[in-house]
Amino acid sequence: MNQNTTSQSESKLLNGSSLAKTLRSQTANKIQQIIRESGVTPCLATVLVGNDSASATYVRMKHKCCEQVGIKSISQEFPENTTTEKLLSAVQQLAQDETVHGILIQHPVPATIDKRSAFEAIPLLKDVDGVSAAAFGRNVFGMTAHPSCTPAGIMRLLQEYNIELEGVAAVVIGRSPILGRPMASMLINHHATVTLCHSRTRDLSSIVRRADVLIVAVGKPCFVKGSWIKPGGVVIDCGYNEGNVGDVDFEPAKEIASHITPVPGGVGPMTIATLLDNTANAAAQQLNI
Ligand code: NAP
Repeated sequence: MNQNTTSQSESKLLNGSSLAKTLRSQTANKIQQIIRESGVTPCLATVLVGNDSASATYVRMKHKCCEQVGIKSISQEFPENTTTEKLLSAVQQLAQDETVHGILIQHPVPATIDKRSAFEAIPLLKDVDGVSAAAFGRNVFGMTAHPSCTPAGIMRLLQEYNIELEGVAAVVIGRSPILGRPMASMLINHHATVTLCHSRTRDLSSIVRRADVLIVAVGKPCFVKGSWIKPGGVVIDCGYNEGNVGDVDFEPAKEIASHITPVPGGVGPMTIATLLDNTANAAAQQLNI
């Protein structure tokens, strides 16, 4: 590959790692200001249930990133066979603890847990992952609430690269409450025309071919083929599967798209940077700064 080809394909990459670094440094400044003005160090509590090793890794990564920007973090871990009642009681205690400003329940939680009840136990002001019905609903209506981290991180990335959203055909694959659904409503709020697809969608590839902006949040390696991509379309790959593989078949897709997120280094770092920023904002609100 000659140098021209290399720089051309690099210019297509939506570099989440680099933007996340800038955001983390802005968040670190906010944290310093909060500490100066209140004498209190913002604190994030994470709750991990079960033995999923990927989830444990994500939680460790979040604690490390908290430390880097000056956020204190505490962790609560529960075995796979924890009951919903035990989890709820722990979340309720964190909700009442004035030294904790943000609460994150790492998902997925085991199927035996009533996860909706657990998410609903997080008060709106401390819901830094935007998982409660109140946060979701308020975000849908453009009202103040911490936004769901992955879609909000994606919106920042799109804004950074001046990707036009108004009037474009946006397709979101995946309708989970943490990703696909809030993503669709954020795109609608930015005046995109949105199609939300899921496992029962018929003729998915032909819907995807019309996408000016495509967001893929399925959780299946290389699920979206290069031939599905609209020439010149923007591709956001949320997938993070074993072996650092996304949900989009990256190499062929890169040749057709105008912009594409790499995996890793695209959406993932933006999710964590948004979580840190949400935590700083939550602390500022609770400390009246
Ligand atoms: P999820 O809750 O498992 O949801 C997956 C969605 O994909 C569901 O809505 C499902 O449809 C849909 N789907 C499954 N098979 C499909 C098919 N054949 N055709 C069309 N749609 C299909 O997953 P999630 O939590 O939203 O996560 C999605 C991906 O993003 C995963 O790879 C996850 O690791 C990744 N992720 C990354 C980050 C990050 O920071 N990078 C953060 C969160 C998640 P139904 O609703 O009909 O079942």
